[in-house]
Amino acid sequence: MTLDFLGSLERSHRCGELRASDAGATVTLMGWVNGRRDHGGLIFLDLRDRTGITQVVFDQSVSAEAHAKAEAARPEYVVAVTGTVRVRGEGLTNPRMPTGEIEVAIHEMLLLNDAKTPPFSPAEDAIANEEVRLKYRYLDLRREEMQKNFAIRSRVAMAIRNYLVEEGFLEIETPFMTRSTPEGARDYLVPSRVHPGSFYALPQSPQIFKQILMISGFDRYFQVARCFRDEDLRADRQPEFTQIDLEMTFPRQETVFKVVEGFLRAAFAAAGVELCAEPFVQMTYDQAIQKYGIDKPDMRLPAMVDLTNDLTPQLRESLKIDPALPVYGFTIPKAGGLSGTARKALINEIRANLGDTGLDFLDVARLRTNEAFVPLAEAIAAKLTAEQIVFCGENFTTDDLAVVITATPGTPAAWNYDKQWIPKRVGALRLELAKKFADKHGLFAQTGTAKDFRFLWVTDFPMYEWNEETKQWDAAHHPFTSPHEEDIKSGALWNDKGAVRALAYDVVLNGTELGSGSIRIHRKDVQSEIFRTLGMTDEEAHQRFGFFLDALEYGTPPHGGIALGLDRIVMILAGASSLREVIAFPKTAKAIDLMVDAPTPVSELQLRELNLRIAHRN
Ligand code: ASP
Repeated sequence: MTLDFLGSLERSHRCGELRASDAGATVTLMGWVNGRRDHGGLIFLDLRDRTGITQVVFDQSVSAEAHAKAEAARPEYVVAVTGTVRVRGEGLTNPRMPTGEIEVAIHEMLLLNDAKTPPFSPAEDAIANEEVRLKYRYLDLRREEMQKNFAIRSRVAMAIRNYLVEEGFLEIETPFMTRSTPEGARDYLVPSRVHPGSFYALPQSPQIFKQILMISGFDRYFQVARCFRDEDLRADRQPEFTQIDLEMTFPRQETVFKVVEGFLRAAFAAAGVELCAEPFVQMTYDQAIQKYGIDKPDMRLPAMVDLTNDLTPQLRESLKIDPALPVYGFTIPKAGGLSGTARKALINEIRANLGDTGLDFLDVARLRTNEAFVPLAEAIAAKLTAEQIVFCGENFTTDDLAVVITATPGTPAAWNYDKQWIPKRVGALRLELAKKFADKHGLFAQTGTAKDFRFLWVTDFPMYEWNEETKQWDAAHHPFTSPHEEDIKSGALWNDKGAVRALAYDVVLNGTELGSGSIRIHRKDVQSEIFRTLGMTDEEAHQRFGFFLDALEYGTPPHGGIALGLDRIVMILAGASSLREVIAFPKTAKAIDLMVDAPTPVSELQLRELNLRIAHRN
C-alpha cells in the first residue's frame, strides 16, 4: 500500500466537534480509524481523535479513489479526510454520540499511516488484561476513558496551580538529585560518576528544600512535585508519584487548612463537583480513634458509640464481660432485618473475624428476650439512635444492624497496655461490615454531588511512635514536625515522650488520607532534641542534616506546610479504580515499567564508568 504525505493539509475541525448546524460545510478531519463498516458501494469509517468520533461516508460513485482507500483502511490506520457535513437520514442518528446527528460525505482521503492489528482495540471499553494494557500503553491511552482521565488530571492540576498563585504562592522547583530525605521509605540512589563511591538520593519529598525556601524568605512556596520512595508496593502505591507540595511562613494550622480547602474546592470544581462552602470538620487524633477506631475516619458511616459505662459491674459479671475493658457499638444502616439463619451466620462470621482476640459480639436483639437485660438493650438502642440522628437524622431501628463488641474476661493482657487496641479493632470491623453491606446502605454510592465527599482534618497526632523491634521512638510524621508549644513548655518533650503531641495534621476524604503536613520546628535546640530522641547522636545528626541545622541558626521564621497526593485526588475525581488509571506511564506492583521494560541491567562499560561492580547475593 502506498502511503500519502500530509503535505500542507490542515484540520478544519476535531472529530468531536461537528453538529447539525455545520451541515453544508466542507471540512477536513484527521485521526484514527476506530471502526469500519463495508456496505459495498458505501463504506463507513468512524474517525477518532481526543475529542470524539465522527462517522464519515465514502460513496464509490462520488470518489472511486477515496472509496478504494477507505476499503484498504483498517482499525488504527491514520487518515485525513475532506468532505461535506450532512445531517443523517431519518432513523439513522445516534443519540449516544455528540456528533450523532451528522456524518461527513468524503470526496478526498489521505492514508497517512497503516497499523498492525493491535493486541486489543482502543475502541473497546473494558480490557481485562492489565499487563497487555501497560505494555502497549500508547494503545491503551487512546481509549476514551483514559483520554478523559488525563483531561481531568490536567484541568485539576491547572486549577490548583491557579488557586495557589492567586494566594501568593511561588512555584519553585527543587532538585531530584539530592540527599536522603527521611519520609520513612527507602531511597532510590543515583551513583555519581565524578565522585566514585558516592550517590545522590532521589527525594522522597521536597521536605528539607521547602523548609529552606522558607528560611530563604520566599514566604509561600508550592510545587507539583515528583517524589520517589522505594517501598514494597502495597496495593495502589507507585514508586514515583506526584504531590501538591506547599510551605508557608508564619502560619497557624488554620492558615494551612484554609489554603488546602480552597485549592481542593477549585480542583473539584474543575472536575465538575461543587463542594459545600462550610469549612471541613476537624477532629483530634484521639477523638478519631475513639469515634472511628482509625486515624482516617470514613464519615460516610455512623461513628462508633462508647457503651463502656452502660455495662455496669453486675451486668458485666452476668454477661461474662471483662470488668474494666471498654465496650463499643456501631450501626450499619439498613443492614438489619435479616432472616434468622442469615443473622446467625453473620454473628458467626463476626465472631470468626474477631478470632482469638478475646473480643466478642454482644447480641442486642437477644438481650431483649430476657427481662433482666431489657434496660441495657434499651440504653444501647438509645445511644445508637443518638448517633444515627447526628449522622443522618434517622432513628436507629431493627432495620439497621447493631454491632456491639465486648471483651471477655481474660482478654489477652497485651491489649490492655495499648488503649487504642480495642477501638482500632472495632473500627476495622465497622469498615469491613460497611463494605459487605454496601448495597444495602448505599452510603458509598456516587451521586455526583458534594455529599459524596466527606472531608475532615485530623489534628494533634502523637509526636512519636514506639518501635518494639528497635526499642526506639520513631517520628510519627517526620522529624521536622514541631511538637505542641505546651508540650515543649511543660517539659514533656524531654520527660514524657509518649505524651508529646505533634502539630501535625492529615486531610482525609472518605476514609482515605489525601495529605499530611505539619507546623515545623524552627529552633535548633528543639530540632536537635528530636534527632536525639529518634536515636541519632549529635554527630550522626550533624553528618546527615548538618546543612539544615546550620540553616536553622540564621534566622529561621516559624513555618509549616503540607503535601497532598495529586494522583489520588485525580483518581477519585475520575472515578478510577487504581492510581495506574491516572498516571500515564505507571509501574506494576513489582515496580516495572512494562512498556519501556525498566529496570534493566546496564552494560559493563557503564558500570565501569560509575565504578560499580554487581555482586550477586544468593
Ligand atoms: N513531606 C511530607 C510528606 O511527603 C509532607 C509535609 O509534611 O509537608 O508526607
